[in-house]
Amino acid sequence: MNHKIKKWQLTVGLEVHIQLSTKTKMFCPCPSKYGATPNTLICPICLGLPGALPSINREAINMAIRLGHALNFKINKKTEFSRKNYYYPDLPKGYQISQFDKPICLEGFIEFEKNNEKKMIGITRAHLEEDSGKLIHHSNNHSFVDLNRAGSPLIEIVSEPEIHSSEDARLYLEKLKQTIEYINISDCDMEKGNLRVDINVSVNKKGDNSLGTRREIKNLNSFKAVQKAINFEYTEQIKIIENGKKVIQSTLTWDEKNNKTKILRKKEDAHDYRYFPEPDLPPLLISDEQIESAKVNLAELPNDKKIRFKKEYSLKNQDINILISNLDLANYFEKLTSKTNLPQITANWILVEILHYLNSNNIKINQFPIEIDKMAELIKLFDNKELTNLNAKKLFNIMMKSKEKPSDLIKKYNLKTIKDDDLLETAIQDIFKKNPTEFKRLKNGDHKLIGFFMGQAMRTLKGKADPKSIQEIINKLIG
Ligand code: ZN
Ligand code: MN
Repeated sequence: MNHKIKKWQLTVGLEVHIQLSTKTKMFCPCPSKYGATPNTLICPICLGLPGALPSINREAINMAIRLGHALNFKINKKTEFSRKNYYYPDLPKGYQISQFDKPICLEGFIEFEKNNEKKMIGITRAHLEEDSGKLIHHSNNHSFVDLNRAGSPLIEIVSEPEIHSSEDARLYLEKLKQTIEYINISDCDMEKGNLRVDINVSVNKKGDNSLGTRREIKNLNSFKAVQKAINFEYTEQIKIIENGKKVIQSTLTWDEKNNKTKILRKKEDAHDYRYFPEPDLPPLLISDEQIESAKVNLAELPNDKKIRFKKEYSLKNQDINILISNLDLANYFEKLTSKTNLPQITANWILVEILHYLNSNNIKINQFPIEIDKMAELIKLFDNKELTNLNAKKLFNIMMKSKEKPSDLIKKYNLKTIKDDDLLETAIQDIFKKNPTEFKRLKNGDHKLIGFFMGQAMRTLKGKADPKSIQEIINKLIG
């Protein structure tokens, strides 16, 4: 199989729906929010009742312009809304207001790093549209419809079919999500459906000029599922072609349980939707001032933050990449460092101890239990060698459950480093006396025993001595 796969090229295009975090819906004043009692956030406009007239949400337009700047788009100064006609129980209007041939953003690109090399993927367009409602399927063959989400603002971001591996698809999505979080237009919470991914997958013979027929897999709910679905489709489509059959354009879902795609229906083309200009909304004109002011007020983007972190804090590249992967984490690092004045040591504590704690407890940095001032104090005590590595970690764990100050906890639990060399020397002499045979062997040049005595000393001194000092004293005592 493997030698066969090599002559087939994989091509992927991604369509990402992002729910914008505006206060109200796209075309009506209903609140756009998650988790309310079903069918309480609705009005004649989002229900499409006769005579109701939509009006455009300015906040959503400004968010789209911000996205336009962040992803290197050209912004269409004259943009239009159209009706996309289809029927589904979660869409009682019978049409979705979307954008067809005049999307707000055109021809952008995303840049990400792969193995220290820059890669660029083109983005065809990004357009605004309204979300549908939600169907809730009940176990006893009943379904319910909740229209709270109907009319919430979405921006759909459509990549060029320029992605040729499932890993590149993930890197593209991660960078997209990171950028959107930075410019604060969505929380991208995939569990709430605020970031949904559709993938278009095709294969063709390497060197062929045209792409193969694509199959679209809808509504993937994690980046892991995206990667798995792409890999599955790749081998599946090769199988179809090599068995002498044709790939048929169709819409599929990802079956998470069985790790395979499942065909839903033959794919519709754009003309099936009978797009026509929305008669209730005039074309939308965007001024140069509006575009400029969004640019001036744009938050620092991931690449700029990376350059600044390198310059300001001189951290290792791989440390910066992790710190800036999440905006809250990057902000936490800056705040903590402003209190410690120790950028690299602070970064080390975040990347090792704090991230480990967050991951194993499945929480975010803003739920981290230690107050930032106390965390800074701990880092400074460690840097001043008031605490050994071992006891600093011990204190870190104690602080997770205690509100007391680190300096008080050090006294309470007797963790302070013993810096008095005479004291250390007496303790080590004592250990030598208790282990005469080992001491003799060490004195006769068996250096493996240094480890043994180090361990004994650390235990006796309860981790309160700097291992380096212990080693120096042992060396001194054996001459
Ligand atoms: Zn409404
Ligand atoms: Mn869409």
